[in-house]
Amino acid sequence: EKKDITTKLLVIGGGPGGYVAAIRAGQLGIPTVLVEASSLGGTCLNIGCIPSKALIHAAEEFEHARQHAAGSPLGIRAGEPTLDVAQTVRWKDGIVQRLTGGVGALLRKAGVQVLKGWATIEDGKTVTVRGADGQGAQRVRCEHLLLATGSEAVALPSMPFGGAIWSSTDALSPDVLPRRLVVVGAGYIGLELGIAYRKLGVEVTVVEAAERVLPSYDEELTQPVLESLRKSGVVLHLGCSVLGWDEGQGVHVRNARADEFALPADRVLVAVGRRPRTAGFGLESLQLDMAGRHVAIDAHCRTSMRGVWAIGDVTGEPMLAHRAMAQGECVAEQIAGHNRRFEPMAIPAVCFTDPEVVVVGRTPAEARAAGLDCIDAAFPFSANGRAMTLESTGGFVRVVARKDNHLIVGWQAVGRGVSELTAAFGQSIEMGARLEDVAHTIHAHPTLGEAVQEAALRALGRAVHI
Ligand code: FAD
Repeated sequence: EKKDITTKLLVIGGGPGGYVAAIRAGQLGIPTVLVEASSLGGTCLNIGCIPSKALIHAAEEFEHARQHAAGSPLGIRAGEPTLDVAQTVRWKDGIVQRLTGGVGALLRKAGVQVLKGWATIEDGKTVTVRGADGQGAQRVRCEHLLLATGSEAVALPSMPFGGAIWSSTDALSPDVLPRRLVVVGAGYIGLELGIAYRKLGVEVTVVEAAERVLPSYDEELTQPVLESLRKSGVVLHLGCSVLGWDEGQGVHVRNARADEFALPADRVLVAVGRRPRTAGFGLESLQLDMAGRHVAIDAHCRTSMRGVWAIGDVTGEPMLAHRAMAQGECVAEQIAGHNRRFEPMAIPAVCFTDPEVVVVGRTPAEARAAGLDCIDAAFPFSANGRAMTLESTGGFVRVVARKDNHLIVGWQAVGRGVSELTAAFGQSIEMGARLEDVAHTIHAHPTLGEAVQEAALRALGRAVHI
């Protein structure tokens, strides 16, 4: 029997929410214990954001090499490239290891005690940790309990994960490249991975129940993605539901007219959403207020039980790493006695599709729905010099601002590399910038960011380059 550990803060889950909370708490001198059953870094570093972006980059490089081999307008001539998938996966794993190792070092530096094992809640102040090594249980007593248990991929009852049926995790570590991949779900995870596989030369078919891709995004923003999917040869079945799977015929699908057909496939990636991880660790015993499937929290990230906090995916949408991190920092600082709330003006959302899609703050429709009298203006990359030199003139940057005082309330963009513009978008909204502030800022030439300035100028009725 191990001796009980007593601590001020106990964090369950070492993903971006939990590890950031623990590091910040450690920095602030709060005795902190972090429990992680699997690998530090959680979904994000191990099987989410980072490995997916690594795979996407490798796929883009491969596609460029193939384009050069096919005869490039840039004058580059190259031979037909080949792909060593095992090496690609090793390279991706190397990045993951560097980052998760870094998180471990940062936790040590902050003085956080990391326990490897599965945490089970006994009550709001007591947790038992059972190690993967089969050693005895360790009881931890705490003053504050932080739930950062994340989320897990939703399976389809008609095709549970395993064998040929992939979750996003399987798709990030393929043993071989399938010849034909069917992707179920055209949300950002399904499309990011589907596009990457297409670029690697796989025949990709996407099945989506809604009538369009990225259905939770503004349609104007998703149009360039739809066009690019079609151009790249991805086959789309929109407005279709999946009935089941058999190895011989493939994925059985029903369309809106109730016609049924089968899509042959060697692998099926099911990417139909993620659900907060709220079961299997005694959470029920706390009887916390829930909001649907996720733990309900207030603007301080407090649950309905005093001393129990929750952050990240377990608290529902938007299930994004940067939200989890910001909440984690906020909770640690409150436990240290700081007066903090989690009240961002905007949480950016990025789809690393081709082209990329970015939403920060309100779209014109959302602004209208909120009763705001707004103006919006877009600037197309077809009029941006840098975009031409990058051979990616599709897409645009759009700004949404209040009509009366020109306060910026939202930015949207679609195009190559627009994910990097989110920093500017977020800052302008958080700092209360007006259209004039952005319009009068000198943006470096030639950069994609000039489209940000031009969108603001256009909203003011005085764009120069269009
Ligand atoms: P998680 O990262 O899920 O971490 C939770 C951790 O808790 C896990 O490590 C788990 O092992 C541990 N745990 C759970 N229960 C217990 C227990 N009882 N005992 C011990 N340990 C436990 N987000 C972005 O912002 N940008 C992206 O580009 C992006 N891409 C993604 C791509 C994919 C393929 C996927 C799947 C997700 C992606 N996400 C992205 C989402 C992002 O990964 C999550 O929003 C983020 O990881 C949530 O962080 P978290 O700390 O809430 O939980």
